[in-house]
Amino acid sequence: MATAMNTNMEWQQTQPVRALVLQHATLIDGTGAPPRSGMTVVLRDGRIASIAPDGSGAVPTDADVRDLTGQWLLPGLIDAHVHLATNPSVSDRRPRVEGRLRNALRGGVVAVRDMAGDARALADLSRAADVGDIESPVISYSALLSGPGFFADPRVRSASAGLPPGTAAWTRAVFDTTDLRQVIAEARGTGARGLKLYADLTPALVAKIAAEAKRQRIKTWAHLALFPAKPIDIVQGGVDVGSHALLLAWEPATGLPTYEKRADGDRTVRGDEASLQRLFAAMKARNMLLEPTLWVYRGAGRPGDTTSAQRLAQAQMLTRAAHAAGVRIVAGTDGISSDEAGAMPNLHEELRLLVESGLTPMDALIAATRHAAEAAGLDATHGTIAIGKAADLLVLKADPLADITNTRQIALVIRRGREVK
Ligand SMILES: [Zn+2]
Repeated sequence: MATAMNTNMEWQQTQPVRALVLQHATLIDGTGAPPRSGMTVVLRDGRIASIAPDGSGAVPTDADVRDLTGQWLLPGLIDAHVHLATNPSVSDRRPRVEGRLRNALRGGVVAVRDMAGDARALADLSRAADVGDIESPVISYSALLSGPGFFADPRVRSASAGLPPGTAAWTRAVFDTTDLRQVIAEARGTGARGLKLYADLTPALVAKIAAEAKRQRIKTWAHLALFPAKPIDIVQGGVDVGSHALLLAWEPATGLPTYEKRADGDRTVRGDEASLQRLFAAMKARNMLLEPTLWVYRGAGRPGDTTSAQRLAQAQMLTRAAHAAGVRIVAGTDGISSDEAGAMPNLHEELRLLVESGLTPMDALIAATRHAAEAAGLDATHGTIAIGKAADLLVLKADPLADITNTRQIALVIRRGREVK
């Protein structure tokens, strides 16, 4: 008896490969170049085969043709902060996660960066996404390194079930004496594209990890305050991407509390502090990416929830200040989508919040395409529309540069050169 998976595989092998031709599109290619109208893009074998003005290139005769007159063609969006496998046996059971991934893809998200979970589950989800067993964005994921202070957290137990906390290759406690060559080689062995630095790390250890990660060609992704390491220690340590705008508010502090005591020390800043301006200059000089994760601060808009409103306002103020100082911004939600079938992915709201924080709609689109692909380690295949890159694309019925909420006006999502239902 054929299982659903086998049926799908047979279907893939027996379908003739037809090219897909997208004509008369207005192209926003993700590089920041101005939109180009009247463009034809040919997709073949899951890749972008050609990009040319209408009528200037030969249209393959064996192709399906779509007329995109009055529509906008973009690289598929990328959510640079999701969690798909924090607790694979309860909240992140496979059917629920597949539902969230389906929502994300149908809502225009063609790739995600998972910021730590059970790499056994993530490796299998990523494989299933790559071969088309599940309807899903590409999944790039991390292995978590942290000081011992984090390992009493219940999320550690659920994400490394069956192993003593802090010993899994993907959820690892590190100390000054840790053999980082070995630990990072094992992290790479899980299939992770990045190391997530989470908490309880000193400036010296951050720098040592980032240097060894560079040597082994794996990215370093960090929370922007690691208790005791401050934002500037993380930037100067050589981390590639820093997450959570509110953590920037720790920079003007004199000495950070321990990771366990951090909640007692919530801070408010103005944004124009000299230490923050020095921090932003250092981030810019190192070409570091800042991922504000504004969506996670929004507090679901509950009436009377002034704490969340204040936190979001502070996070948006810090994002505005960093962006104005020339720091490159990445779009990530820290919450991919609700479980409800057909729900829009939360990345669209993140884009709206980024524009509300001073990014132009074009800046926001770059944050969710080119910058997010670079953050996820997927820039060879994703993030811009270029010949040879993956045919993972988004077609909109309305102009996202006129109004960023038009990213929700989806005409078509294309994954691996085929239309998603
Ligand atoms: Zn997160």
